[in-house]
Amino acid sequence: MSLGKPALLGGSALFDTPIPLIRPTLQVDDELFAELREILECGLLTNSSRVAAFEDRAAEFLGVAHVVALSSCTTGLMLVLRSLGISGEVVLPSFTFMASGHAALWNGLTPVFAEIDVDTANLDPAAAEAVLTARTGAVLATHVFGAPADADALEKVTRRAGIPLVFDAAHGFGAVYPDGRKVGCRGLAEVFSLSPTKTLVSGEGGLVATNDDALAAELRVAREYGNPGTYDSLFAGLNGRMTEWNALLGRRNLERLPGWLDARRAAAARYLARLSEIPGLRFQRIPAGAVSTYKDFAFRVRADEFGTSRDALVRALREENIPTRRYFDPPLHGQTAYRAFATTPLPRTELVSAQAITLPLYSHMAPSQVDTICAAIERIHGHAPEIARVAAQDGKGATVPR
Ligand SMILES: *Cc1c(COP(=O)(O)O)cnc(C)c1O
Repeated sequence: MSLGKPALLGGSALFDTPIPLIRPTLQVDDELFAELREILECGLLTNSSRVAAFEDRAAEFLGVAHVVALSSCTTGLMLVLRSLGISGEVVLPSFTFMASGHAALWNGLTPVFAEIDVDTANLDPAAAEAVLTARTGAVLATHVFGAPADADALEKVTRRAGIPLVFDAAHGFGAVYPDGRKVGCRGLAEVFSLSPTKTLVSGEGGLVATNDDALAAELRVAREYGNPGTYDSLFAGLNGRMTEWNALLGRRNLERLPGWLDARRAAAARYLARLSEIPGLRFQRIPAGAVSTYKDFAFRVRADEFGTSRDALVRALREENIPTRRYFDPPLHGQTAYRAFATTPLPRTELVSAQAITLPLYSHMAPSQVDTICAAIERIHGHAPEIARVAAQDGKGATVPR
């Protein structure tokens, strides 16, 4: 089959209209609406029996003692860091979503950025250890794109230092560690996001998974303004509650999640099989025995081998009506809110940020859509010199809106 000219060079776009980058897969049926009606008719709209039921199911699924449902992952991260009662520094990767750092800043903690491993895109435990000081209060690691971080090595580092380890598991609901246990059970706590771009969706929402009884109890008070029920607030908590219909959505979607994750992994495998044939594309290394959620299908573009920069590929794909995202570019230390904390060079983070691209991926994506996106990348690679020239000429290659 002749692939024809890329749309950027005057060929016709492979999709007639822009396809979505991300679409949540949801279980929508009469049962859902019947339960929603029950919630609305009984008037208990927030933090009631559906939230409790969802927490129980999630704890069972994850294999942890406690799950505390919150209004978002950001809220969860803020409240977990608050509960540590620490001051000083938190070590975290710069190659993560801004909310990881925000949780530190909201607690008056100083973010200290540590390097990632270029191949896994996750926090490098040795690099994290290298930036620990007497002021370090905790390490916060992210399971980037849903690939489990090296929890064994990170736990060794934090145990030696006598400080807690917390995971931003926003991408990781359904991921599996190399020992076969689900992401959610390591460190002091792992914090999931249930927002529409994540694997388990409740609309908005977050879940803290922990085996620490005291932390779970404290979070239940913290999400109620710090009010233990006596109206004598114990500390400055938040309104961090989950609504009953968010919990309903989360619980119903959790029932179907294993199959949806399988479908997502199949789509990722389909991408991987075909795109691995193209020179210059570097895929995230998933640790042996671990299972990623593929919250994102991400890879790096090496311009010297692929023939165009990542940004020129982004631009050329946009002309094919294929949206992409440059996750995470800029990394935290390149963002305005974090400039003051960009104290050491992070060349590995900057390299990955400059080369990273994520493609459309959702659980109910048709295999033919994956194939068409692969074909688009193949034909862009096939015309790489001209694509690079056009992208450089109009200067837009580097300034496509994010
Ligand atoms: C989405 C995301 C968050 C924030 O989750 P919310 O539920 O929207 O607060 C935090 N960390 C990472 C890595 C994320 O991708």
